Amino acid sequence: MCGVVGILSPGQQASPLAALALFALQHRGQESAGVAVADGEQVMVYKDLGLVTQVLDERRLPSLRGEMAISHCRYSTTGSTVWENAGPAFRLGPRRAVAVGHNGNLVNTRQLLELLPGRRGRLHGSTDTELLTALLAEEPAGDLVQTLRSVLPRVSGAYALVVMDEGRIVGVRDPYGFRPLVLGRLAGAAGWMLASETAALDILGADFVREVEPGEMVVLERDGVRSERFAEGRLNLCVFELIYFARPDSYMLGRNLYEVRRRMGEKLAAESPAEADIVVPVPDTGAPAAAGFAERSGLPYREGMVKNRYVGRTFIQPSQQMRQRGVSIKLNPLREVVRGKRLVVVDDSIVRGTTTKQIVSLFRRAGAAEVHLRISSPPIYHPCFYGIDTQIETELIASRSDLDGIRDFVGADSLAYLSIDGVLAAIDLPRERFCFACFDGRYPVPVPYDVAAHKFVLEGDGAAVLALPAASGTATS
Ligand code: SF4
Repeated sequence: MCGVVGILSPGQQASPLAALALFALQHRGQESAGVAVADGEQVMVYKDLGLVTQVLDERRLPSLRGEMAISHCRYSTTGSTVWENAGPAFRLGPRRAVAVGHNGNLVNTRQLLELLPGRRGRLHGSTDTELLTALLAEEPAGDLVQTLRSVLPRVSGAYALVVMDEGRIVGVRDPYGFRPLVLGRLAGAAGWMLASETAALDILGADFVREVEPGEMVVLERDGVRSERFAEGRLNLCVFELIYFARPDSYMLGRNLYEVRRRMGEKLAAESPAEADIVVPVPDTGAPAAAGFAERSGLPYREGMVKNRYVGRTFIQPSQQMRQRGVSIKLNPLREVVRGKRLVVVDDSIVRGTTTKQIVSLFRRAGAAEVHLRISSPPIYHPCFYGIDTQIETELIASRSDLDGIRDFVGADSLAYLSIDGVLAAIDLPRERFCFACFDGRYPVPVPYDVAAHKFVLEGDGAAVLALPAASGTATS
């Protein structure tokens, strides 16, 4: 996950715009937020742990002056949640200052570390982004675009980047396009913006221009925008962006995500109907699919649970203890709605199963007669190494239990998942354009076996990390 924004706004300060756009991407990462600005001569960064509104308030932004800015909100996939790892990453090198906002996760961090003079001792933080930023700042090649051309072919994994030096912003999408990145035009000005999702364009009133293509660099400079290609691209967009990561009001590949999710609910109802009285979403992300399920099944749609929207998404919170605490403080069932009723409860996914179990338990304690769980995505059997923090297979309940075992664990009366074909029918695009690896184990970019320890690869004893044997295989099946 993570959200990234880039703003070029000639004639006006860019940092308030970068902060506001980042606010629209808060769902993509809640551990830290930050903005970097450039005025043609220098780059400045302000970042801290916390939500966008906590970090980038009106006291901070006026001092961050410049017509260019990038911003970043973090969800950790490499490195701990500490100030040093907040984004944007920044490095002052011998030839340039570089700030980087990164959405995604690199899979050859250890090999990249070998390329850095002085290696780990030269890093301020312990993220793959920090390492990439150091490589870009230390690279002796010419300007920032040439530097990216030189460094990126050595980088493997998922990366949607906004990279800024003193005089330009470059939007970059890896050759597989795992993570989204769009280009927009600021209204009423000769300005441009880059963002993880179109919802960030909407909040600034910017016009959608197009998606940045896999293997493409889009360069924003005072005299205009240009496109350069650093690799052949073959789109493998993370299908989970469409299932629930991205906002429902965002568009990807020409599809509105609310509509895609509503159709997933329709397909789910067709594949796995249930004898029930009402359809209830798990708020908020289960709502579009629940609406589709209700329409297709002819059952009434009811809000059966209230969510405290000021508590972060349980899945995003980095520790199990926090996740468990999160569910109990953020969701409260509506007893009058569910008491005595047979419920179809629709959610978008089951990862570890612990959150789902608590939700089913909440409905039962509120008096539900039956709970029929319907999930608008297939079972997650395999971990993600491209930017979602499910890095240990044994954490995934579907990888260690069959359907009956999962149903028993979560305490539902029945359980069904949407099929991969159902997902594709709802999206109405070819399977080849997406990464489905957490469902089918076919990783588009080979992942070293030892990458399971990847999250903290740049922490602890760096020498010991480097002494580990080289990866000898891949997790691709
Ligand atoms: S492995 Fe799963 S979560 Fe990761 S990019 Fe692929 S589809 Fe998305």
